[in-house]
Amino acid sequence: MKKSPPAIFALFGNPVSHSLSPLMHNAAYKKMGIDASYCPCRVEDLEEAIERIKKLPLQGVSVTIPFKTAVMPYLDEVDASSQEIGAVNTILHDDKGRLKGYNTDWIGIVRDLEESLEIKKKTFAILGAGGTARAAVFGILQRGGIPLVINRTPERGKKLAREFGVPFYPLSQIKGISAECLINATPVGMAPDRERSPLPREILGKFQWVMDCIYNPLKTRLLKEAEAAGCTAINGLGMFVHQGAEQIRIWTGKEPPIELMRKVVLAKLKEDNGD
Ligand code: NAP
Repeated sequence: MKKSPPAIFALFGNPVSHSLSPLMHNAAYKKMGIDASYCPCRVEDLEEAIERIKKLPLQGVSVTIPFKTAVMPYLDEVDASSQEIGAVNTILHDDKGRLKGYNTDWIGIVRDLEESLEIKKKTFAILGAGGTARAAVFGILQRGGIPLVINRTPERGKKLAREFGVPFYPLSQIKGISAECLINATPVGMAPDRERSPLPREILGKFQWVMDCIYNPLKTRLLKEAEAAGCTAINGLGMFVHQGAEQIRIWTGKEPPIELMRKVVLAKLKEDNGD
């Protein structure tokens, strides 16, 4: 009997060399006994990259910065949550040759938060107004939580808040905000700018939980200061693992080895950074 060729998955983004998705996905497929390979692809021309999905063919693609929104018009179908969020981070190339877009970032955020707390009826102050903040607002609303948006640039923050029907506060008013959980959905504090924090430490004590979507470093300055102020700190590793796990479910229909995925990414981050 002729053996079928290995499945190929890819990451489209620019840059992609720093990404831990190939390590995490390849470890998962090996453990699952799936003959597959997941490769990083630095994309210069998005249209050409999309054509390559059908030509190669690729069975699935992860999409990262700066293409999560730009990719949407090229797809045959985009699911309802991606449409509402306005971003796609996952493409399924189905057996009819159609390209379907999904967003698993919101699932990553929600599943990770749910490991620490119940979202329903709690208030979440979401810092940022980019794709990750949009996924967070959507996910919190899905689970019956109460999001509010805080952003440096008021116009962008107001637009997001208006679209989802939630309140907006400018960053300058953070002191007056009351919420149980703070979510940092900005890149402030991400390596190599480890010494930066998006918020002054004096205001952190009022939150019970502080989540940083950043996972490199594992403990950002924001999380260190949050812990010192008595908050429970949640880093972005769990979000990363859960968004990738959902991609594997979409592409293979099988349950991914989440703990192994967490372990390999954690080991790599510790090796690289001594975290
Ligand atoms: P983005 O679309 O570029 O949005 C960035 C947001 O951060 C904007 O609202 C921007 O505010 C704000 N911002 C940037 N610099 C700032 C500063 N110095 N002070 C205050 N606000 C600032 O980024 P994104 O794609 O949403 O990603 C945000 C973060 O989430 C990144 O660190 C990314 O690594 C992380 N992430 C993690 C995962 C995971 O799996 N753990 C997945 C996706 C993303 P303005 O509107 O004022 O410019």
